[in-house]
Amino acid sequence: MTKKDHGPKGNHSLSQATIASSSAQTAGAVAQKTSQAGAVTSPEGMVVTDPPPYPDYPRYRVEPGRSIRLDKLDPGETEHYRAKPDVKAELDRQRQRIGELQARLYADHRQSLLIVLQAIDTGGKDGTIQQVFRGVNPQGCQVWSFKAPGVEELDHDFLWRYHQRTPPRGMITIFNRSHYEDVLVVRVKGLLPEDVWRRRYHVINEFEHALTLTNTVVLKFFLHISKDEQKRRLQSRLDDPNKRWKFSRNDLTERALWDDYQEAFEDAINQCSTEHAPWYVVPSNKKWYRNLVIARTIADTLQAMDPRYPPADPGLTDIVIPD
Ligand code: AMP
Ligand code: MG
Repeated sequence: MTKKDHGPKGNHSLSQATIASSSAQTAGAVAQKTSQAGAVTSPEGMVVTDPPPYPDYPRYRVEPGRSIRLDKLDPGETEHYRAKPDVKAELDRQRQRIGELQARLYADHRQSLLIVLQAIDTGGKDGTIQQVFRGVNPQGCQVWSFKAPGVEELDHDFLWRYHQRTPPRGMITIFNRSHYEDVLVVRVKGLLPEDVWRRRYHVINEFEHALTLTNTVVLKFFLHISKDEQKRRLQSRLDDPNKRWKFSRNDLTERALWDDYQEAFEDAINQCSTEHAPWYVVPSNKKWYRNLVIARTIADTLQAMDPRYPPADPGLTDIVIPD
């Protein structure tokens, strides 16, 4: 299998010392593997790429084995773009790519994509889903939002409720919050002792690796905003009558724990950015830039997965539809 190292592209790579390039497979190697998978009918029987095909697009990816510091990463970065209109055409192009590739993924019915969105309150998870997936056929896409677990969920291992909702073949599934809450809110609020949540990093890595071995590609985005930006967003939820329903007094309790959350996010990202399921730290103060980065990364990942329309049955050209 060919492997290639790719350096960070352009001169606007975010903190090259902390976020660097990772090895990625060429589309050619992926295509070769995909064609070997041939006519298998069960994902367990497929020849998979291990690690899966991530794009030649290292910016913002947290390299496995490296440690990032969130306070060293600028949540306001926007490359050379200055305002929303600057990215409009590019964002439209990326949405179109996602739509076209998703149609292939669905028809191909051999691989799936799990997208994990994590952020502090007001970080923009809902907005990302609304904005980035506009071009996607709802039939090929699922969104699951995870709240505090219920009684039945708490009676099972922590992954139980997430595993049931991982994407079936052909699907894109978005986790709006995810199994990472079980090392985030659980840690910050002291819901379980440290020896319990600390073991979970390893369990999560194994879980995600297992998913990739049945051809589910896992993409994880942390939407990185500043504390000032959170204040502005909370204020606008109070000021705008149409947004008030989103405001919860609990958001202020959580905001008081800002530093603890940053530390918990940092550890989760550093412990769980693996070759199999890398984390991307996305500068998210500017919503339009966040949308562009996420859309680009998803489109590039789908392209590297190389989904193909299945070949038509032989002899179709001879068929005459009767009157
Ligand atoms: P929201 O996303 O604003 O609807 O809020 C969902 C709430 O559920 C947040 O306060 C999360 O902290 C909480 N939550 C999500 N997953 C878990 C979990 N595994 N354990 C405890 N609380 C959770
Ligand atoms: Mg909320």
